Amino acid sequence: MANFEGDTDLVYLRDVDCLQFTGMVIGVDEDSIALDRTAFYPTGGGQPHDTGTLAGSLVIDVRKGPSTDGKHQWVWHRIDGPVPELGASVEGVVDSKRRFELMRTHTAMHILCGVIWNEWRVPVTGGNMEPLSARMDFEFDPVPEGFAARIEELVNAEITADRPVRVEFLPRDTALADADLIRTKVSLIPESVSEIRVVDIVGLDKQADGGTHVHSTKHVGKVRVVKVENKGKGNKRVRVEILDF
Ligand SMILES: [Zn+2]
Repeated sequence: MANFEGDTDLVYLRDVDCLQFTGMVIGVDEDSIALDRTAFYPTGGGQPHDTGTLAGSLVIDVRKGPSTDGKHQWVWHRIDGPVPELGASVEGVVDSKRRFELMRTHTAMHILCGVIWNEWRVPVTGGNMEPLSARMDFEFDPVPEGFAARIEELVNAEITADRPVRVEFLPRDTALADADLIRTKVSLIPESVSEIRVVDIVGLDKQADGGTHVHSTKHVGKVRVVKVENKGKGNKRVRVEILDF
């Protein structure tokens, strides 16, 4: 088989509803395989990887990594089972329960960013998520009184408002000139990236983002603020959980 030249095609960037796909094995490394295309989300941007099956074996880890020749970026899937041969065509099935929970959680985090910015003009400085729970850090010093109850109220109002969540691909120059995107530090994206993927919760929050999101805020469910922690001067951590509809 001729060497595959190029990056892995990331199907989930354009189509989050594609949970079943066929890909070709372009790299093998012990118990991991790289594919020419994948619907599996690899760990990154605060969102953990998808699970599911590839060629009938469980997928236990998904990461971006260099191609065998180091020139391209491939997605490597670690599997618990027999490793298919280079060039083989394999069927992938993404675990829909975990994926949908992560989509709901990721969108909930963007809603939180949006309401905190709108209400207090305070930017997010970091975050991480697990299925149905997340933490986000904000530059508050100190936090406003009644903060937890207020953000919970604001976030759930945005969920009820059923705002569409749109994914767009913008030319770099257009994205860099967008005031909403400037706030989320779009200029830090490497110059080699000519097209920027934008997740737009219409009328609330717009960010350059590579994650998977639900199509409308109402699909998030309900958000509960678990606690607000003081992580030092100018850094407050908000922990949330996502409940069912
Ligand atoms: Zn995000």
